[in-house]
Order: sequence, then structure tokens, then C-alpha cells
Amino acid sequence: MLIVMDAHATPEQVEAVCIEIRDMGFQAHPMPGPTRTAVCITGNEGPIAQTGRLAVLPGVSELIRVTKPYKLVGRDFRPFDTIVKVGRVEIGGPAIVVMAGPCTIESRSQLFESAAAVVAEGAQIIRGGAYKPRTSPYSFQGLGEEGLRYLQAVRHEFDTPVITEVMDTETVELVAEYADILQIGARNMQNFALLKKVGQTNKPVLLKRGFAATVKDLLLSAEYIMAEGNPHVILCERGIRTFDDHSRFTLDLSAIPVLKELSHLPIIIDPSHATGHYNRVIPMARAAIAAGADGLIVEVHPDPAVAVCDGHQSLLPERFADLMRQIERIAAAVDRPVLGRTPALEAFAE
Ligand code: PEP
Ligand code: MN
Repeated sequence: MLIVMDAHATPEQVEAVCIEIRDMGFQAHPMPGPTRTAVCITGNEGPIAQTGRLAVLPGVSELIRVTKPYKLVGRDFRPFDTIVKVGRVEIGGPAIVVMAGPCTIESRSQLFESAAAVVAEGAQIIRGGAYKPRTSPYSFQGLGEEGLRYLQAVRHEFDTPVITEVMDTETVELVAEYADILQIGARNMQNFALLKKVGQTNKPVLLKRGFAATVKDLLLSAEYIMAEGNPHVILCERGIRTFDDHSRFTLDLSAIPVLKELSHLPIIIDPSHATGHYNRVIPMARAAIAAGADGLIVEVHPDPAVAVCDGHQSLLPERFADLMRQIERIAAAVDRPVLGRTPALEAFAE
């Protein structure tokens, strides 16, 4: 249920509503909006009885029943877009944000070389895996804390936030010490213990869609994180498994407008894991921006031929530069700048 407050409701009146909700045995989530505050109720298993107790409170304008299974992540609860702030970077605002870097951190020099290349081309966030979810137990599993230390060094050197995957509840605190954004991988999208644990931190979380998960499943997983009190959730579509095997996964581009309709959370597209092939990354990146994505996460490697992980889908730095130039023009066509880049149209005018 959603309690919509009057436009002139005072903070004390909002607090009184929250107290009443907690007295009824539920959780209250105040959500301030541009013109009025709404208070979302969670923790109820069915329709709430005794709604009259809430309707009569001063400052309450309207009670709205929400029938969707997810609440906090839904547009019903928050009609305006959520912007997740990561340092100076705003994800989900007007500007397109690009995160880029290697699949996995292989060495200090490989990470620095990749980071220097992507930052020079306008990437706003550096990616790099220290804990890797590999299909085979015999594949390289990541450098662990050593990788996190290199990540911290590039973060400092380039004054740029970093994103890295956290794979289990035991390492959440450690990874959160180094990372600006915690990535939950596709294989862990329904690891509910992990979702709860990252929900108890105050760090932005990029939640990747599982490759056999529906949009509803993804939103319910995001709800797990928000229900623990962490509102800084970013959704990521990275391809799902379909009957066709021409590509590593099938990028579900139509999930972008659907997610935008159902949820207020930002959406990032990963064209690297979706396609599995460097040649297809740029076309899908262009399509994602055209379809309304808020940004991209892209794998870039200084020498993909020798990459320890996902070399096939990793872009050379010069191809990444092409990607940035191309998406800038697509972004201009949908009235969005690419953060950190000169708008393409202005560049043409010069
Ligand atoms: C990754 O980003 O390197 C990764 C393993 O992604 P996914 O969880 O989408 O497979
Ligand atoms: Mn990868």
C-alpha cells in the first residue's frame, strides 16, 4: 500500500504516519518526491486491514493499493526516475554513463593500461573483476584481495569510481571497502542471502539479470536489496538464454522500455556478455542507447588475444574509442549527452 501525503504535509505528519505503520507491525518507507512525499508499506502478506487508522491521520491525502508483487522498485511507488550517485557520477540522470575495463584483473599493469585507455575515451567508471564466477572450477578465479588493491590504486590514480563483483556474503564487507559499486553477477541474481547482505550496506549495487530470469524476477531481486534499506540499485540487462545459439546470450533490448515502465531504477546494458563477440558489441551498444538505456558496461582489454577471461568479447582500446564516438551520436538523437564527452552535435558544429 502507498500512502500519498498532502503537498503541504509537514515532516512531523510524515513521521506520525510512519509510526502508525510500524505500530501495525509493518515497515514504513518514506519516499520524498518533487511535490509530495509518499510512504510505502511493506511487510504485509495480504491486503492491509484497518486502513482507516491511516486515512484519518493529518496530512494524508490518499491511500493506494498496490497489487504488483514488487513495491519499492515499482513506478507506482515512485513515479520519477531514481538517480544513483557514485561520487560525481549520476546514473539514471539525463546523461549516459559508461563503465569499462577488463573482465578480470590480471595484473597491476593490465588494469592500469585498461583504465588509462577507457578513462581517456570518457569512461566514467572503471570495471574489473577480482572475484570471478567461472563456469569451470579449473578456470582462473580472480586475484581476490590483491585485485581489489589494484582497483583501489587505479581509482586513486584516475580519480574515477570503480565497480567490481561480489560473489558471496562473506566478502561483502571486504569488497565494499574497495568498490564504489558492488556488482551482483547474473549467476547470483537470486542468491537471496547475498542480496540481503548488500541491501544492508549503503553502497550502490549493480544487479545483473540472471540468464534464465524474467523481468519480474529481476525486479523482485532488486526489491530484496531495497527492502533491506539500500535504495541505490541499478538494473543491468546482460543477455538471456534462448534457443538460438548464434550469440553467447540474447540481449533482451525490449526489456529496456518495459523496465522503464515498471520501475524507476536506472538501467545499464552489458553488450559484451550478451553477445560474447567483440564485433557485435558496438552495434548492440548503439541499439541500447537508442532504446533508452541509462548507460553501458563494456569489457575492454589492451590485448584481448591474451586475455585470461572473455577475450573474445573484449574491445581493443581503439574500438572502445569508436564505441564512445558512435554512442555519442545516438545519444544526441535521443536528446541525451554522454557524460564526460563533448556532445557530438557541438563537435560537428566546430
Ligand atoms: C562480468 O561482468 O564479468 C560477469 C561475469 O558478468 P555476468 O554476471 O553478467 O555473466
Ligand atoms: Mn566477463
